[in-house]
Amino acid sequence: MPERRRRPAQRAANPEEEPAPAKPAARQPQRPGTAGGAVRFTLAALFVLLVVWVFSGMTRLLADPRDSALLFAEAEASGTPTPEPTPSPVPTITPTPRAYAPFGAQYGYGGEDLIPGAQETEGVLFTPLPTDTPEPTTEPTPEGYATLRKGAQGEDVRRMQQALASLGYLNDTADGSFGANTLAAVTFFQAVNGLTADGIAGQKTLSLLYGGTALPASAAPAMDFLILVNREHMLDANYVPSGLVAIESVLSPDVVKVKYQGTRANKTATEALGRMLQDAIADGVGDWQISSAYRTGRDQQKLVDNSVAAYLRNHSDWSRKQALSATYNTVAPAGASEHQTGLAFDVTVPGVSFAGTPQQKWLHKHCHEYGFVVRFTAEKQKLTGFIAEAWHIRYVGTEAAAIMTKNDWCLEEYVEHMGILQQ
Ligand SMILES: [Zn+2]
Repeated sequence: MPERRRRPAQRAANPEEEPAPAKPAARQPQRPGTAGGAVRFTLAALFVLLVVWVFSGMTRLLADPRDSALLFAEAEASGTPTPEPTPSPVPTITPTPRAYAPFGAQYGYGGEDLIPGAQETEGVLFTPLPTDTPEPTTEPTPEGYATLRKGAQGEDVRRMQQALASLGYLNDTADGSFGANTLAAVTFFQAVNGLTADGIAGQKTLSLLYGGTALPASAAPAMDFLILVNREHMLDANYVPSGLVAIESVLSPDVVKVKYQGTRANKTATEALGRMLQDAIADGVGDWQISSAYRTGRDQQKLVDNSVAAYLRNHSDWSRKQALSATYNTVAPAGASEHQTGLAFDVTVPGVSFAGTPQQKWLHKHCHEYGFVVRFTAEKQKLTGFIAEAWHIRYVGTEAAAIMTKNDWCLEEYVEHMGILQQ
């Protein structure tokens, strides 16, 4: 842009670059003259013509410099020899862009993924952004944080737990041990604050947590117990529900076994589950187990991938598409499983098939009294998109569960009849 603009100005200042007619006219006054009046008259006339020509050229250039720039460009392209523009006496300065790190970028805040290896490499404190022109800085050197993940122990974990607790993400006392509840708190903190919700506390997560600008847990939208999730109403891969707790932190092993340690679920739903199973035990029906509850979008994708791999192993003539199609008959695609809401439980009895057990019969008869529904039945398969699962219950709250049971509605029918479908 500046160079193109400069050219007309150079041309105006150098009229000798104009085509031939200029030169004889310019030379004319310098020709040694004779003393005759005719010669003086001729010289005067030529001088007037010269002044008129120069003035008209200047006016044209000033009136529309783009024209002359275009003319110049066309002349360059035409292959006819064009006089080189006289180099400007002022050297052209191309400003070197200063390597600019936005505030907080040192920590990865605003883009952990921008810093190669920041997530993968444990213990890397600070990866500086590449700078072409290093400049002295008076800003304080950023503090680095060791990446913390489940299983970590020590003062760094305790400090993180205290910060999470002060923002309302953690109810436990800060014990310096990164367990299931801390994982839940970190994941939820990340989701509420728009970070990748992977439960790993890296530079981006910790700098935001300690930076004083993070959103508190109370900023999260309240859990919608009637949220509809199925193949048509899917959750975002990064969706993390509010109110997750480790089931074992709420329910005693005397009430229910948790098959996979650290399994999480919505706190309200887990408390309702506890009341229900205590009453079942009081009725003489015990030996309960939770095989699955909250699953992340990534967990669900792993289930899909594992199923596809198993089909391909057992059917060497199948294409991947066939294996995926067979998988989706029984496994929800990532985003289509309501386990990602934290409101669903797979209730089982250790070591036996659940269907037909006294536990299954008691559960199906009473679960609505505690706010649960048996989500997938053979009768509603066309509406839910899933085959019957005797073990899978979903918390919807006692009011909705009562209406759904009384009317024999599945959740799809309930949200439609009640006019509350929002997704
Ligand atoms: Zn399930």
